Amino acid sequence: MADDDIRCSFCTKHRNITKKLIAGHGVYICDECIDLCDSILHPERREEKELCLTFPTLKEAYDHYEEARQAYVMMLRLHKGVDIKED
Ligand SMILES: [Zn+2]
Repeated sequence: MADDDIRCSFCTKHRNITKKLIAGHGVYICDECIDLCDSILHPERREEKELCLTFPTLKEAYDHYEEARQAYVMMLRLHKGVDIKED
């Protein structure tokens, strides 16, 4: 993939139209997908986020990304029988 064609691996939005795009090992996730995964994993946080307009720190964003990535891997294993090698 060329540097100018980097997209979110989940929703395929181009990096030019995302606020943040976080890189993993061969994958990318945008801020909106992180928010979506976070709201699925922690529905109680949705109300907190609606009340709080501050941006997460890089560490918080990475932690959310990591949780979402682990949830995605678990979902693949459970529903598709795909064996994903963890680092
Ligand atoms: Zn996305």
